[in-house]
Amino acid sequence: MNSNLSPVVSRFAPSPTGRMHLGNIFTALMSWLAARSSGGKWILRIEDLDPQRSRPQYARQIEDDLLWLGLDWDEGGVDGSGPHAPYCQSGRHHLYEAALEALTAAGFTYPCFCTKADINASQAPHASDGRVIYPGTCRPAPGKAITGSGRIPAVRLKVEGSVEFDDAVFGHRIVDLGAEWGDFVLRRADGAWAYQLAVVVDDAQMGLTHVVRGSDLLGSCAPQLYLCRLLGFPEPHYIHLPLICNSSGIRLSKRDQALGMEQLRQHFTPRQIIGLLARLGGLVADRTECAASELVELFDVNKIPRDYTIRLNML
Ligand code: GLU
Repeated sequence: MNSNLSPVVSRFAPSPTGRMHLGNIFTALMSWLAARSSGGKWILRIEDLDPQRSRPQYARQIEDDLLWLGLDWDEGGVDGSGPHAPYCQSGRHHLYEAALEALTAAGFTYPCFCTKADINASQAPHASDGRVIYPGTCRPAPGKAITGSGRIPAVRLKVEGSVEFDDAVFGHRIVDLGAEWGDFVLRRADGAWAYQLAVVVDDAQMGLTHVVRGSDLLGSCAPQLYLCRLLGFPEPHYIHLPLICNSSGIRLSKRDQALGMEQLRQHFTPRQIIGLLARLGGLVADRTECAASELVELFDVNKIPRDYTIRLNML
């Protein structure tokens, strides 16, 4: 344990929509090491906000796979014991509701009656990656009348200005929130909670000091920090990790069976898999076999490669 570090409380927050792959395990390992190397705590949060795609059996399988790899958690999981229970987002709607009420009471939100088709048809501006940015059709303004047309509205956040933050791997960032996000949705018209709100509420309520996750979510830091600041929550530190790609340079997905847990468990031992991930994470120089617990002393965020992706040529 590195006694110079203050204890890190980090989490692994899988969506139970399939079996994990090597990329998910890499995130879990690095997040676990950040906690264990500082004498902190590791929380397992099940992000099952999407009822269509989430399955409890996947969540149980994720738990079984993590334990097989030697990654144990201090709080959370499907049956969620711990001071911040429940640890499945499906049981935490009351907390998201309270945050939304606070934002609404402070005048930061507004109802939005636009459909997806309305927004697509509206010549809306685009973010740098081509996403359509909401043009502000329903945003209240003096003298502007909005007709509800009998539809249940979504709730949007009014967004102004830019957000600055530091990521431990990818460095200093300044994001123009208006240009990159616009007024984003907090609760959809069908009542579903937006990932951005749920994550911010959960990370704060669970006392997270560090968010360790894949670089695919680096772009979500700005809206999340913005919400955090409006809600007066403490800001977490961010450690974003390179994404593991297959030999063709394509990011692994849950559909990539070859590097999914089922295949990995059939062909490799936990020590072989952890050893490979330790090398990809820059913790060891050569191919080796080791247990996760043997890496605790070696973990150092500065060793993580500063690349958005790591191409995996072979196991
Ligand atoms: N649930 C998200 C995922 O499985 C992770 C969210 C996060 O780490 O903030 O990709």
